[in-house]
Amino acid sequence: MISCSQGDTLKVELGDFNAKLDYRAEFMGKDYAVLQADGSCRCYIGIPADAAPGNYYLKITEKKKKKTVSISNIVVDIAMKEFPAENLVFTPDKKSIMAQDNSGERETIGGAVANETPCGMWTSSFSMPVQGRISSAFGAVRKSGSVVLWRHKGIDISAKSGTEIKAPESGRTILVNGDFIFHGKTVVLDHGLGITSIYMHMEEISVTEGQVLKKGDRIGTVGNTGLSTASHLHWGIYVHGIPVDPVWWTENR
Ligand SMILES: [Zn+2]
Repeated sequence: MISCSQGDTLKVELGDFNAKLDYRAEFMGKDYAVLQADGSCRCYIGIPADAAPGNYYLKITEKKKKKTVSISNIVVDIAMKEFPAENLVFTPDKKSIMAQDNSGERETIGGAVANETPCGMWTSSFSMPVQGRISSAFGAVRKSGSVVLWRHKGIDISAKSGTEIKAPESGRTILVNGDFIFHGKTVVLDHGLGITSIYMHMEEISVTEGQVLKKGDRIGTVGNTGLSTASHLHWGIYVHGIPVDPVWWTENR
């Protein structure tokens, strides 16, 4: 049995595999390719923050001569996580941003963070893109008074405007937008194997779309653009389009 919590990342790695066969994983009704890269055979699965706690089956199959065979069926126990509730207080100019339609921005970002590249571009655990205090945790339930707004899809790292943001691992810039009204100046990196990361509310963007960055390369600087209540970096990590706690990625790979 594998134990995990809401918002975690599940790393599925086959100890024994045949380089000539295709492997797949099935979990919560979704199908994932288990890919062979850097001498291992693995895939990553995001556990949604709002997944119902309980037991689920992780089914691994191999395909041999057009025949798909189940090779393991593992119970994954998803535990409930206590997510904090936060009350957001916006200044009048930020409140006017709230009133605007942001569906176009959300759609563009949703497409970028779900990008799939079959090879991984990183070799170690991720570093924090900015040094600073985590002022808002992943999964926090955001409210404005008694109105529930949304669940926080990343972490907020508190830092002064102008603080340099560095790539936490190697990746390619797949979205660079300086005009988002709601999300502010935004960059999305594709790290491969279905892993993407997002940087929001930036003051200055130093990269262009399609650029390949190494770990530690400058992405831009921390700001307070878009619907933001103070200078900070919103950093998110997505696993096949599912937002997960980025902190896991700074401790594992
Ligand atoms: Zn945030």
